[in-house]
Order: sequence, then C-alpha cells, then structure tokens
Amino acid sequence: MIAAPRFPSRVSIREVGPRDGLQNEDVILSTAQKVRLIERLADAGLVLIEAGAFVRPASVPQMADAAEVFAALSRRPGVVYSAIVPNVTGAKRAIAARVDAIQVFLSASESHNRSNVNMSIGQSLAQAADIAALSRAAGVQFEAVVSVAFGCPFEGDVPLERVMDLTARLFDLGAQQVTFGDTTGMGHPGLVHDLTQAFYARFPQERLRLHLHSARGAGLANVLMALHLGVDCFDASVGGIGGCPFAPGAPGNICTEDLVHMLHEMGISTGIDLPALLDVARMLEGMLGRTVPGQTIKAGLCKHLPPDGSPRLP
Ligand code: ZN
Repeated sequence: MIAAPRFPSRVSIREVGPRDGLQNEDVILSTAQKVRLIERLADAGLVLIEAGAFVRPASVPQMADAAEVFAALSRRPGVVYSAIVPNVTGAKRAIAARVDAIQVFLSASESHNRSNVNMSIGQSLAQAADIAALSRAAGVQFEAVVSVAFGCPFEGDVPLERVMDLTARLFDLGAQQVTFGDTTGMGHPGLVHDLTQAFYARFPQERLRLHLHSARGAGLANVLMALHLGVDCFDASVGGIGGCPFAPGAPGNICTEDLVHMLHEMGISTGIDLPALLDVARMLEGMLGRTVPGQTIKAGLCKHLPPDGSPRLP
C-alpha cells in the first residue's frame, strides 16, 4: 500500500484577478468596478490581494487607474493589498498610493525581460535594489516575482541554476518572499517538482510561492505536485480570468474558486468562504459581459449534488 501523501494543512492564496486577470482582459473595468471587485474578494476571506500594477499606462491601459483604485478602496483590517512594479518609478507611485506590499517583477530570461520591461536582467536587479531600499524606508513589504521561471516563450527552457541564482540575489536584497511565475503556462508537474526541489535545497528557510497559469490545462496538476513537496503558497485569479498574452483564447491564471474547491475537498483549509467567492465570480461575469473560464462556477459544489449522485449521462 502506498503511504498517503502528507499535504500542508493550510494554504495561503494570493488573489491576483484584479491585476493579472484584468490586465489581460479586453474589457476595461471602471475604477468603481475594480474597487467593488477587490472589496468583495476581501469580504470572501482573501487576505492577500494583488490590487494593481504600477506600470506605464500606455503599455497596460487596464492598470492606468491603479492609484485611484487604491485611494478609493475601503481597506479591511488584516488584508494585504499589494501591487507589482517593474522599476523605481512604479515603486514610488505604489508607495504614494499606500500599497501594503510591493512585488518587483523581472524575468528569468533576457529576451522576456527586454520585451516585458525593456531592461536587461542586470538593470532590473539594480532597480530592485533601489526599490528594496525605498520600500524599507516607507515601511512597505518588499517581495519579488521571477517571471517565465517555467519556460520562456522566446527562449524555451530556462536553466534551473539561473532561476535559483536570480532568486538568491532577490533574497540578498531583502525580498520577504520570492514567487516563481509560470507566466505563459509552460509548466508541468515534472518541472514543478524540479524547480521546487531546487528551491528548497538552496533556500531551506524560505517559503516558496507559485504563480501558475493553466494555458495548457496543467494548472491544478501543478498545484498537486507542489503541495506534495510542501509548497503552501499559491497565486490564483477569481474566475480564472486573464488568459495568456501570447495565446488569445487560452485560459489564464489558475482559477481561485477551482483551487479553493479542490483544497477544501482535500481537507486543506484556506480561510476562504467558497460560496461567497463564487458569488464574486458571478458578479465578475456580469462586469465582463462573458462567462469566465472557471469550472466550479459551472459544475457547482460537489457538496451540493443530490446524495444519489443525480442522473447524469456518462
Ligand atoms: Zn500571471
């Protein structure tokens, strides 16, 4: 008999729908709609919410009103409202907007970093050092995201050592957490295994966070592998919105309510009120004027199925 795997008893979920989700949607929500979305997510029990990005408005018009969103939010005590920034300019705007946490983002491949933030990785690291100092002075949490850690749409495979070396530099700068991003959904369970093992071998005291996309359907399989290895921090997007900028029509981030449903069924707690979260996903469908990619919103909760299993075609 195979021993039952020991999974973490509790998982930390960071909601990235208001940022990663909305920035890849064609429909641009109003500031008031974004504020409502974020507030309802906090009401549903999400305590880490990526509420915006301080990037060039010309490049990402969906995030142009990030400062207004932060100003209009009524903040729930205990909730960390964060933003991503690529450079010092963005960090200054984020601090002025009173974000609780800043995530600097840079890519594990030179070509993706150039195309995404128009800098070399070395230049991004220099910016990260200044952002770390600014954050410290402002009393804002400083964290980092390594994009395309699971593969680059331009360069293909990304060497593990490069991801780990970059991660080491970010921890040296004082990053409180480093997130590995599967930006274009190239990850699979084997790769999750290798990256996670390499991370814990090199940084045994640190707590890895994974930002997974499900462009090719492997999202929750990747989560399962990570759970098996002890990872207990994941990003997810309400409704699974977001898509992939390189693949129109492909699903985006792993879906928060699908992830929460799976975890709760496994006996893993999240602190999230799933029915309330499903209501938020339905509200988001109304705002976007389309159905969202999430599955639980369509299938309903397992627990709500009739006890006889209800008549179903195979
Ligand atoms: Zn993403």
